[in-house]
Amino acid sequence: MIHHSGRIEVICGSMFSGKSEELIRRARRAVIARQVLQVFKPSIDDRYGVEQVSSHDGTTIQAQAITSPVEIEQLLKPETTVIAIDEAQFFDSSVVQVVQELAQRGLRIIIAGLDTDFRGEPFGAMPQLMCVAEEVTKLHAICVVCGEQACRTQRLVNGAPAHYNDPIILVGAHEVYEARCRMHHVVIRD
Ligand code: ADP
Repeated sequence: MIHHSGRIEVICGSMFSGKSEELIRRARRAVIARQVLQVFKPSIDDRYGVEQVSSHDGTTIQAQAITSPVEIEQLLKPETTVIAIDEAQFFDSSVVQVVQELAQRGLRIIIAGLDTDFRGEPFGAMPQLMCVAEEVTKLHAICVVCGEQACRTQRLVNGAPAHYNDPIILVGAHEVYEARCRMHHVVIRD
């Protein structure tokens, strides 16, 4: 098969914006077109089981859970032409070089991840990935307070807005996340 040039596509947005849905949609279409697909995700996210990417509306696709981006190259099959990576915000910055090299070799890389964390600040290596990508899709959810476009992820701890300095993992606390617009996104700064 003639190898065309590779490309990097980033799908970003808040929680519930449909990133996983869109990743799964693109991945399935590639498979229908007889592309050989491998899907990766960080193993810390075991929301619906470690061997799948799942969207909040229930669609799933098989995935390989990895702890470091270098494992993508180690697990890569010679026949693979398309790579999908979900929850990319949880990978360290080495993910940028890994996907750059794979795109250089002619692979199509589809990467989904949160553009901002619960504080509304850039998340992990997502800014770098967005810069080197050929294509960036920024999705939106619907603000649960006002119904406008939501661009942020609201963290609520025991029903109240999270504090800026809260640890990423809160032991024993009940935390939930909501999609909210800029105006209704609240972070308590102590
Ligand atoms: P992401 O990967 O960005 O978190 P998913 O693809 O997992 O998003 O889920 C998107 C789905 O989440 C939507 O199709 C819808 O069913 C559901 N959803 C839940 N809350 C909201 C919301 N506030 N706005 C839009 N969709 C929502």
